[in-house]
Amino acid sequence: MPPVVDARRSALSIAQRQFDAAADALGLEDSVRKVLREVKRELVVHFPVEMDDGSFRLFTGFRVQHNIARGPAKGGLRFHPGLTLDDVRALAMYMTWKTAVVGLPFGGAKGGVVCEPRSLSDNELERLTRRFTTEISLIVGPDRDIPAPDLGTDAHVMAWIMDTLSMHAGFSVPASVTGKPTSIGGSEGRYTAPGRGLALVTLQAMRDRGIDPSGATVAIQGFGKVGSVSAQVLAESGMTIVAVSDSRGGVHRSGGLDVESLIALRDEGGRVSEYGGGDRVTNEELLELDVDVLVPAATEAQINAHNAPAVRARVIAEGANAPLDPDADAILNDRGALILPDILANAGGVVVSYLEWVQDQQAYFWAAGEVNARLREVMVRSYQQVAARASERGLPLRAAAMELAVDTVAQATAVRGIYP
Ligand code: GLU
Repeated sequence: MPPVVDARRSALSIAQRQFDAAADALGLEDSVRKVLREVKRELVVHFPVEMDDGSFRLFTGFRVQHNIARGPAKGGLRFHPGLTLDDVRALAMYMTWKTAVVGLPFGGAKGGVVCEPRSLSDNELERLTRRFTTEISLIVGPDRDIPAPDLGTDAHVMAWIMDTLSMHAGFSVPASVTGKPTSIGGSEGRYTAPGRGLALVTLQAMRDRGIDPSGATVAIQGFGKVGSVSAQVLAESGMTIVAVSDSRGGVHRSGGLDVESLIALRDEGGRVSEYGGGDRVTNEELLELDVDVLVPAATEAQINAHNAPAVRARVIAEGANAPLDPDADAILNDRGALILPDILANAGGVVVSYLEWVQDQQAYFWAAGEVNARLREVMVRSYQQVAARASERGLPLRAAAMELAVDTVAQATAVRGIYP
């Protein structure tokens, strides 16, 4: 189901409203508030790519840096046909709050290209990636702005980016991008990090609320990098995955699905709705299942004023960025659902991106166990800080996370002062 976004409720205006609420609660000084409400820097590029049939197509791409007060800008690159500058600005702002809430010394950025990567051949995708990288090389680099995978991009795309930037430099610059293959300086555990991080936060929050994970039921919308790995980790922790879906629909089995067979089916190019071991469900039906935990891990605004009243899960763990619109957030908070907010719940990816960047800079690499232990430490500590603020001030976790993040960035901005 495509997200419903009208002009009055653009992604950026939603992100700004969330920021305003945190800024009001913190009594943020006007100068700092003005700076943090807008993105710092945005680059829009239009560039040609030669197609396999010899024709040329012009593509549009973006790289937006929202804030760099606490370190280099950091955030993913999205290849998607519906991508807009407004979306990228909002997503760059969320990255600033995400890196702050988990205590990474980074700012926030996002970028991408308006394209349908599945309709491009491998060679076309490589040419597009290399040319786009060259266009944004004006503002990216290991000390300036470090891209990573997001929707529609993967480790292979990151390898082309790393190679292009390295060719320009004349030497290998592994720290210029994260989410790379391990053969060129990628980190162990980076692919599984977003899903693992989400599972760690979910399990911790359930234990805190006295909900026993063993036997608890889970429905997952989206079976990509975040959805499939969180399914694996939650199942390993004793939870029962009763439904999963991709963009074409999903499958439901109240006794539990076999996650490994679903992953094998997807990796062979199949769709989870074709899986024989359960009943078909639509994406809409999946969101409304009577489960303990719902993981919306597809895309923005999937839960809104229209369908939120029918959502029955006790815990909602935001795998995607902004999967609940503000109306849905209010409706579900009112009925007492525990919402684990995106900037915390899906921060595992950027946490291991940070560990990858550190390993690249020191040219010394850690085994998967070491990376996963550090990820666990950061996710559990960050969750506990957010939960403590939420209970001290009687706030939902999203408001508490936003306040902690905005306060961290505001302090850095204020102490540096306004130049000149
Ligand atoms: N795209 C991911 C996110 O939205 C990862 C960003 C990164 O690792 O820099 O958090």
